[in-house]
Amino acid sequence: MDHVYKDEGMHYEGNCIRPPSEAYSILLQVTVGCSHNKCTFCGTYKNERFRIKDNDIILNDIIFASRHMRRQDKVFLMDGDALIIPQKRLMWILDRIKEHLPWVRRVGAYANTKGIKMKSPEELAELKKNGLGIIFLGVETGDDEIRKKINKGSTTSFCIEMGRKIKAAGIKLSVTVLLGIAGRKMSLEHARATGRMLSEMDPDYIGALTVMLIPGTPLWQEHERGEFELPDEVGLLKELREMILHTHLTRGLFFSNHASNYLPVKARLPNGKQEALDLIDTALRGEIGLKPEWMRAL
Ligand code: SF4
Repeated sequence: MDHVYKDEGMHYEGNCIRPPSEAYSILLQVTVGCSHNKCTFCGTYKNERFRIKDNDIILNDIIFASRHMRRQDKVFLMDGDALIIPQKRLMWILDRIKEHLPWVRRVGAYANTKGIKMKSPEELAELKKNGLGIIFLGVETGDDEIRKKINKGSTTSFCIEMGRKIKAAGIKLSVTVLLGIAGRKMSLEHARATGRMLSEMDPDYIGALTVMLIPGTPLWQEHERGEFELPDEVGLLKELREMILHTHLTRGLFFSNHASNYLPVKARLPNGKQEALDLIDTALRGEIGLKPEWMRAL
């Protein structure tokens, strides 16, 4: 049946989020929620039942974008893990983007390890050829004990393997790590283990976010019961410093400029590492101000 276009705007549902670097992209919601939805710190899709949206709605949104978003040259596929969409259907979505939005130069999406596992290397290469240029993967920590505790759903080594699989397909890999997720006691172990993990994975971009306690999440409940204590500002800076110190990339960008962070840092690795460490040391000596609490947000 031919598609009948209805000029009724983008059909967004629920809590729509995107990486900071996709702020000016066409946000195309192809799934609702996250198929994992079990990480203890994450409240983003708590009330959503995961599903893939109807092709008809997706196509309508693509056509809407072709009429009203002609100056945006990137598309970001929301929500949690677009890569979980069966290959044929995902290829169809990329085909429609090409057909109706020929000026788009890159498509990006969030992914989790389960979604990456489901794709063969050949399928990933096919997606890359059809426009998928970047994958955003939340790795959070390289410490297996913490990964289990936060219900990440995969081990460090498997996560490294999945990250490498993305890169091997020629798709850019952007990962996020979570400052503070290990609490106070394990803070530096988390930093070192995560640095080692990042070094093995060798992503193109690393974004360090500071964990925020979202009311209603299991992590928030742990905090309420006094079982989880967030490091203070100085502790978080030391954690960030330790993480950068242990991260050895071939060539990549490490940034902690997310709204949730106290100190914006942007380091091109390997060459910019010392400069970033020096900046953090300056902040630790109190010679530059940190972002006030009220300005931090997710
Ligand atoms: S995989 Fe990502 S979106 Fe899903 S629950 Fe975990 S942090 Fe949230």
